[in-house]
Amino acid sequence: MWDGEVQEYPDGTLWGKSNYCGKWFPLLSSAIEHGLFHPNCRHSINFWKDGDPIPESIDNTDSERRYKLEQKQRALEREVRRAKRKVEGFSDPENIRKAKAELRAAQKKLRDFIDQTNAAEGKVILKRDKNKEKIYGAPSPPVQSAPAPPVDVPDTPKVTPAEVTPDAPQALPDAYRDTPVPKREGLIMSSGDVHESSIDKSGGSGIISTDRNMSASIQNPPDFSKYPVTDDPDSVKAIKTTISESLGIAEQDIDLNGIRNTEVLEPFVKRLQKIQADTGMKFPKIKTTEVIAGDELCIASYQPIEHTFYISSRYFNSKDALTDTLKNWAENDILPKQAKSIAYLAEHESAHMRIPDSLLETKEAMKLWKKRKLVNKNDADIYEYFADATAIYRMNPNDADSGIVKAVEYLRKGGVTV
Ligand SMILES: [Zn+2]
Repeated sequence: MWDGEVQEYPDGTLWGKSNYCGKWFPLLSSAIEHGLFHPNCRHSINFWKDGDPIPESIDNTDSERRYKLEQKQRALEREVRRAKRKVEGFSDPENIRKAKAELRAAQKKLRDFIDQTNAAEGKVILKRDKNKEKIYGAPSPPVQSAPAPPVDVPDTPKVTPAEVTPDAPQALPDAYRDTPVPKREGLIMSSGDVHESSIDKSGGSGIISTDRNMSASIQNPPDFSKYPVTDDPDSVKAIKTTISESLGIAEQDIDLNGIRNTEVLEPFVKRLQKIQADTGMKFPKIKTTEVIAGDELCIASYQPIEHTFYISSRYFNSKDALTDTLKNWAENDILPKQAKSIAYLAEHESAHMRIPDSLLETKEAMKLWKKRKLVNKNDADIYEYFADATAIYRMNPNDADSGIVKAVEYLRKGGVTV
């Protein structure tokens, strides 16, 4: 799969040239690192299906409407960029194939959105901007002192469909910059600068990677039938009021359909209250569903376009099912070892909501990520790393290594309240 070209760097890291896109990737350990497990929060965005009407244009003025449409285009472009990073991050053919399928899907969404918008408007108001779909740089090595990957290797144009070809690496100096927008405190749901993906991991298809050393239990959801669920409708009713009153979410925006007790929701909401008190962030709508976006492993997911935070009733109905799963993932280095609690889950997801994408698309952010000390499957994704760093720091600053402290400092400098 490596086309026979392998280079060894002074620190012993091996790099191979991919047959698939002509890019250089770290081999072995980092291949596993790039397994892209991120079971608890894939923020896949479901926009709308072909033929659906173009979503709301609440604004009266033409320019505001256009602005909103453009913001949606930007969000879709971010999805494309993220999918491209995944294509680059994987090293084995099967995962690369799946990542490419995701990339094609992201590109199709973008194309369809532009086409449908223009059709609905009766004129061209949105245009594809290929520059905004480009990513820059190669995947980071998993070890701290690894050399920069040989990013200037040109792409080999590939077969299916032409569009999927990852971008040619660019010169690094300014390439990452996408004008980081200093973030206002709190959460701006509709501005389009909210991080919506990071979960992009498998886009609804479940965990992609199949590391043969991983037990099957990690790649599958827990056997929920093993966990008895108690019914306590009064507690559910009560917590809805609590959520509404304490978090400021309108009651009609809280859908707890399928939640049968509050043994998970209560500690979860408690932590959200603390996060809100500490950071001033606002929370989106909450919606319960049994399986989130077709992904049986997904526990919770934030979807900014819908301004909705999804929770899975299966995990939220059983504290044991949830904590066993988190423990399992933490112990198997899929998530950081600190990620064993419901509070951590709340912290991690809330961090995603507070950290704007633009802040992680800078050279400085990339540098912090590449030098990270935290190593697990999840932090192979820069968005996940910063969300984990924020969560770890907030759970217990003493647990944070110097890399995490620096990441947090960087976020604060960018306006994120940690
Ligand atoms: Zn996440």
